[in-house]
Amino acid sequence: VIGTEVTAVLWDIDGTLLTSGGVIARTFLEAVEVVSGSRPNLAGIDFGGRLDPEIASLLLASAGHDHTLVAEVLAHFEALVAARETAMLGHVMPLPGVLRLLSMLAELGVPQTVVTGNLRSVGMFKLRAAGLVPPIDPDVGGFGDSGNGHERATVAQFALDQLTGAGWRTTPQTCWIIGDTPRDLACAQALGLRCALVATGRHSLASLAELGADVVFPDLSEHEPALQKWLA
Ligand SMILES: [Mg+2]
Repeated sequence: VIGTEVTAVLWDIDGTLLTSGGVIARTFLEAVEVVSGSRPNLAGIDFGGRLDPEIASLLLASAGHDHTLVAEVLAHFEALVAARETAMLGHVMPLPGVLRLLSMLAELGVPQTVVTGNLRSVGMFKLRAAGLVPPIDPDVGGFGDSGNGHERATVAQFALDQLTGAGWRTTPQTCWIIGDTPRDLACAQALGLRCALVATGRHSLASLAELGADVVFPDLSEHEPALQKWLA
C-alpha cells in the first residue's frame, strides 16, 4: 500500500528512468552539425528537462542559425538513431531501483507512462532498450513531438488527456510526475500534479531539495529512506 495516494505516474526518461551514457546526446549534436554545417556551442545552455525541438532551436542559435532548420535537424537525428540502434543498445541502462519500483507500482495497478522532451521515436528506442515496456505504457504518454506543444506542461497535458481517454482516474492531486530537473517540477506545478524529484541526473540532491517538490529521492534504490516512506 502506498501511503501517499498514487493513481498514475508520469515518468521523465533521461536521468530519471535511464541513462544512455551521452551517446544519444552526441548524436543530436551531430545532426545539428550535419544539417547546419556548423558546430553548436554548448556553453551556458541548460538542456535538462527541455523538449527536443526546443533543444534543436537552442543548438542552432548557438551556431548562428535561426529555427528554420529545426524540423530538418530533428528528422536527421531520428534517422541517425534509427540507423544506429544496434550499436547504441548497450549504452542504454535503467537507473538504480527503477525496475523494482516500476514493477511494484505495476503490481499495485498504477498506470505508468512518460512525459518527456524526447521525440517519440527516440524515447521509444530508449524505453525498449532499457527493458521498461511494459510496465511503462508509452501509448498514453507525452513526447517532445506530441500534439502541438512547445513546452513541457503541454506535453504533460497531452499525456493526461490520453490517460483520461483510456479511462483512468487522474485527479491532479493523485497523479505524480517523477523527474530529475527543476523543469519537471515546474511542469507538475503548472498542472497541479504531485512531483517527486530524483537526483540521478545532473542535479544534486541538495539543489533539488530546495525547489519545493513533494518528495526528493537520492535515487530509487530500495534502501533509500525517503522512497521507503513514500511507499510505506
Ligand atoms: Mg530528465
